[in-house]
Formats: sequence, structure tokens, C-alpha cells
Amino acid sequence: MVGQFPVGRLRAVELIRVSVPLLEPIEAAHGTEHERWSILVRVEDVDGDVGWGECPALVAPTYSSEWHEGAWTILLAHLAPAALAGRSAGVKDHPMAVGAIEAAMVDLELRRRGVSLAEAIGASRDEVAACAVVGVMAIDSLVAQVSKRLGEGYRSIKLKVRPGHDIEPVAAVRARWPDLDLSVDANGSFADGDHRRALSDLDEFGLTYIEQPLAADDLVGHARLVQELDTPVALDESVTSLGVIESILAMGAARAISLKPARLGGLVAAVDAHAAVADRGLPMWCGGMFELGVGRAAALAVAALPGCNIASDVAPTSTYLAADVVEAYELRADGTVTVPRQAGVGVVPEPARLDQLVVARRTVLA
Ligand code: MG
Repeated sequence: MVGQFPVGRLRAVELIRVSVPLLEPIEAAHGTEHERWSILVRVEDVDGDVGWGECPALVAPTYSSEWHEGAWTILLAHLAPAALAGRSAGVKDHPMAVGAIEAAMVDLELRRRGVSLAEAIGASRDEVAACAVVGVMAIDSLVAQVSKRLGEGYRSIKLKVRPGHDIEPVAAVRARWPDLDLSVDANGSFADGDHRRALSDLDEFGLTYIEQPLAADDLVGHARLVQELDTPVALDESVTSLGVIESILAMGAARAISLKPARLGGLVAAVDAHAAVADRGLPMWCGGMFELGVGRAAALAVAALPGCNIASDVAPTSTYLAADVVEAYELRADGTVTVPRQAGVGVVPEPARLDQLVVARRTVLA
């Protein structure tokens, strides 16, 4: 595997900016997405072998400080030239951009060897349970959406919440489905004071976890919440590096972890993070970014790691995208999806599909 320092003799790095219509806007505490912009990274070596990665940074820096246009610039000015020169770019932060180049390098290398990503990282499952994420919306629409997802086969649902949209949606869903595997994601939107009271009020609903209730850098606050709440506190935005994971574990700041390659800076970091968290016996799942099929295929391999024992955010892209660069995999009747076992990440963008969605292409040559 390769880290931020890619090995090999690359001939070209192509950056492809795509814009994909969403089936409906996705609303969370950090904002509303109306279309999905993403950057596909295609690397090609001197032998003509090719690999693909995806940078799913959002259009605005609202989920984290990283954003689409910034990632494009970092990739173009720093990461692509460094990858072509076979040296580390030494880039601080920008994990989604760094991870996209790395994923493409890993895909190329594994394809060359004829090994699947799942096999390479030690994924132990052939199917993984998928959690459907339901955004912020009016209660009647939300209940209808949950009902639809359950009808499709999902057995785990996660509701996006924020102050003022917290107890009511959870109560409405719980009243109708008392035994459902139900979680919430606050995207760091709760703070001390009145808002925080809602978090303890959620305890009565038997949630599987509350994801990122407080701001990403508030580990002490999360450690306190772990003590105060019956509901397991899970961390997502906070989990940015192995060092932070060690702090989270040492402080007892979480009872579950979202393992997200894009936020950790790549597949290598995600695999290392998995090992550290599994070592302490904390439950995990693979978090999602509503990414395209390239990113989702890599997420499936991560979700199949042995420590990922909570339903992962790996719903098929056809759940939220009106189109994709690869054919979306399907949900199985039992709410699971199949982990790709083809070489590399397991999917390759189809030129005809890509042509429909591409906004810009830039090729950087060695
Ligand atoms: Mg989250």
C-alpha cells in the first residue's frame, strides 16, 4: 500500500470535475446540497495501467474546512505534481484531496497485481449492512421517507438532526417503528445550554448512537456527554487522524467511531485507524459522504473490515444521485450490499456516463 508518498512511475494525473443532480436536496445541520460536485482522479503509469480515486469535498466548507474548489487547486498545484515526481507533497490537512490521489494510486497498484481492495486491506465480510441516511425535512415527509427505505430493505436508519429538529423526528419514527435500528447525526450542531438538554431527552428512544453531537474539536465536551448520556456517543468529524483517535480513546470521548477514509486522509489512514479502534474494542462503521460510485466502492471494502460491526453509510448511490459514473450496486433484500471483489477498488467509470456529468478536465503530465 502507499501513503501520502506515492511510489511508482506515473505518466499522467487527470482531474475530472463532475456535477451530478441529486434526486432531492440533502439537508443536514451544516447546510443543504442541491447537486453533488465531486472530483475524480485518474492516474496512469508509464505502462498504461490506470487507477481511480474520488475527492468528495462539498461545494462549501461546511462539513469540514475542506471544499471542492480548494481541493481542486490543491490537487492541481501540489498533489498531482508530487505524485508524478514520486515524492511526498508534504501537504497538511486537505484529507479528501490527499485521500483521492492515494486511492487512485492504490487502485492502480492493486489492479496491476490483480488483487481487490477488500482482500488487500483484510476485509472479512462479503456483505455489509447498509444504513440509510435521511436528511432534515418536514416530519410527514420524513416518516414517508423512512417507510420507503424500510420497504426497499434497509434495516438501519440514521436521521440528520440539529437543534429544533431533534426530539420530534426521532419520536415520530420511534412511535411507528419501536424496534428499528435507529441513529441520529447532529454534525456538531449542539452546544452547551438549552440545546444540549435535547440530547439527554433523546435517551428515552433507545438510539444505536448519537453521532457528533458537539463541535469537532470539543473532545472534553464529548467525554462529558459519554458519562451523561445512556445513548452511545459516536464521533465522525472529530476523527481526523490516528493521533486524535488516541486522544479520543484515552479520554473516553466516544463509544463508537465513524471510520471515514475521506476525512482521515485516505485508505491507509482508515486501515490504521480501524486497527487502533478495534484494539480497544469500540464499535465502528464506515461513514459516507454521499459520494459517487468510485468513492462508495472503496467505502464498501472499509465497511467490510472485521471491526466495522455497525451498519455502514453505504446505501447505493441510486438512493440519492440521479446519475453516476459507474453502475450503482443494488441493495439486497436483507438490507446488505455486496463487497466488490474485482481487482482494485472494483469499479471503473464508464466514458459514456462520465461525458454526461463532466464539467472540467485537467491533465498534469510528468
Ligand atoms: Mg456524520
